[in-house]
Amino acid sequence: MTMVTHKGGCHCGAVQFEVDAPRSIKAIRCSCSICSMTGFVHYFATQDEFRITAGSDNLTEYRFNTGVAKHLFCKSCGVKAFYVPRSHPDGWSVNVNCIDKTAVDDITYGDFDGANWEDNIQGLRGTKD
Ligand SMILES: [Zn+2]
Repeated sequence: MTMVTHKGGCHCGAVQFEVDAPRSIKAIRCSCSICSMTGFVHYFATQDEFRITAGSDNLTEYRFNTGVAKHLFCKSCGVKAFYVPRSHPDGWSVNVNCIDKTAVDDITYGDFDGANWEDNIQGLRGTKD
């Protein structure tokens, strides 16, 4: 599958990133406590596929529960454009809502029942290939 470099960022533009992904994005919606409140839509990327290009010093961090996930928010506008997820702690989850759509052909959505994390995590990890 052809990969392109998508650009994106937070609402105010202080935080910006690039992610290498196909033009057709496979997004995951999650029912866990924080994703359902924030409306975060996941695209999972490896370390190599993701770069913070501006504003890394404008991020603030929030951790809860197991403390594995590192939730990162823009200090100015509060938008969470990406973070280090518990499901993929050696990679990134990028918020599909924050990706510039100029290089996106289409987005297909899958669902992860993150409210019942332990029962479902194996299935989620299997979706990344
Ligand atoms: Zn911002």
